[in-house]
Amino acid sequence: MNTIPYGKHEVTELDIQAVVDVLKSDFLTQGPKIIEFEKAFAKYVDSKFAVAVSSGTAALHLCAIALNVSAGSKVITSPITFAASANCIRYCGGEVVFGDIDPETYLLDIKSVRRLLESAPYGTYSGIIPVNFAGRSINHEEFRVLANEYNLWIIEDSCHSPGGYSYNRIGEKSYCGSGKYAELSIFSFHPVKHITCGEGGMITTNDKALYFRLLKLRSHGIVKNPDLFQSSIIESTGGFHSENFPNWYMEMQELGYNYRISDIQAALGISQLKRAKDGLRLRTEIAKRYFEAFNKESKIIRQSGVVEGHAYHLYVIEVENRLGLYSFLHQNKVLTQVHYVPCHMMPYYKQRGWKKGDRFYSEKYYEQCLSLPIYPSLSIQEQELVISLIQKFLSFESKQ
Ligand SMILES: *Cc1c(COP(=O)(O)O)cnc(C)c1O
Repeated sequence: MNTIPYGKHEVTELDIQAVVDVLKSDFLTQGPKIIEFEKAFAKYVDSKFAVAVSSGTAALHLCAIALNVSAGSKVITSPITFAASANCIRYCGGEVVFGDIDPETYLLDIKSVRRLLESAPYGTYSGIIPVNFAGRSINHEEFRVLANEYNLWIIEDSCHSPGGYSYNRIGEKSYCGSGKYAELSIFSFHPVKHITCGEGGMITTNDKALYFRLLKLRSHGIVKNPDLFQSSIIESTGGFHSENFPNWYMEMQELGYNYRISDIQAALGISQLKRAKDGLRLRTEIAKRYFEAFNKESKIIRQSGVVEGHAYHLYVIEVENRLGLYSFLHQNKVLTQVHYVPCHMMPYYKQRGWKKGDRFYSEKYYEQCLSLPIYPSLSIQEQELVISLIQKFLSFESKQ
């Protein structure tokens, strides 16, 4: 048997052909594939606008700038996430305040957010960055209601959940990144995520003003034609000029970056996106098989269960002897992972005053969590091997 990792990308011949076609074309970057990718992705997550960028981290950074995060801004996020969700606030000089997770869903607990908001003067906080951890969608509407109450913006970190959704009170589906409840949502196309560009990211929104600002920030803060910038969109990459400005004119209106994605990467993204729904279905089937296999072992393992709208980027279980199970699986060439060491326990955030003991449920979860292999090309035989190894370990444990 080959090694079984916890996550794995998939590149088909069609993907390769799509990339080769761009390599033979006139545009390696700043060409038509980027706009095509943005439109297809916006459609997939049900948003009005999408801006493709060089990574999920770049997406977070641009969102923080676009929402005017600066020194003195205080923003709430979950400790159980990849550090980038918090770091984007630090890039802009703002302060990160960690809530705690709900021990059932592993998501940022809205009650913990409310407690933070209630225990500070009104106006202390600027925004919330909830994370659709493991692919499970936050309750979008509940977060919006709370954010409105305290005049906060929301950046939804949806790196784990393209295609995931929640329901609102009247039973309508709300897709992660749809822009209906969050000002901005972000995605990553790192190879371990649902679809990949090698490296890449996306911001989605329904807010036109934010959309234009993000387009500008992605490319140095430069605008080619101030008259037409807001009205005619960048779609018209060439030969589109108002009378006030000659062809060569451009102006830098604010400090931006080069966070562009290339057409080579966008072409891979477009091709991968065509299979995204199939990938989601396969991930859900894998999650169901894990759930059924471990359902009766509930004394030793707690798993999140099968939830509608869950995009299953990860399948997380909790076991008492996590290190034992991790090592046993590793010896048998099954490579599991821990998501995540809580952010507030990172040396960097410790230097900023956080310490072990600050967030009970996040730390308790971290003691026992383990992410099992889940990716579309994981075969039933491979999954059965993983399951039987875990069962073997657990029965051995209980005899001790
Ligand atoms: C992957 C990831 C990011 C960062 O994305 P990159 O493309 O690697 O920069 C941010 N947040 C979460 C939750 C992620 O999983």
